[in-house]
Amino acid sequence: MTYKRLTQTASCQCGQSIFKVDGTPIGRFKCHCTICQTLYKKPYADVVMMWGGAITLPDVQPFTFRKYRPPPALRRSTCDMCGAPVVGFLRLAPFVRLAFVQSANFPDQSVLPPTSVHIFYHSRVKDFEDDLPKVSGYWASELAVTKLLF
Ligand SMILES: [Zn+2]
Ligand SMILES: [Zn+2]
Repeated sequence: MTYKRLTQTASCQCGQSIFKVDGTPIGRFKCHCTICQTLYKKPYADVVMMWGGAITLPDVQPFTFRKYRPPPALRRSTCDMCGAPVVGFLRLAPFVRLAFVQSANFPDQSVLPPTSVHIFYHSRVKDFEDDLPKVSGYWASELAVTKLLF
């Protein structure tokens, strides 16, 4: 699946943590994991996945990166002002990184790709009636995301 190129300046909820996005999205999913539920303060995270090179971070960053799980965990950043997630990165290999951006962080969400899968569905706090695949379990969920790359 090839999607439309995204060129937008994305930001956190309060607008203080901004970053540039310029690239073709790989896919979009809803993550029901407990880390997302805590960080996003929502039942799930609606996330667009891109190649890391599509993201340009500012020189001065009012946001902080942390890992919430041992490797190969995502490095996720949250805004120092509002505490909301900014952008996350996952290193697949040297020089190969994936980036994860919450859909709500894009000013124009009408051009984002459609959601293709629910992951970590076992820890959902809310059922979905849509006809998208619903994947439970840690490794099955990681695999479902990896499949979006191909
Ligand atoms: Zn903020
Ligand atoms: Zn998650």
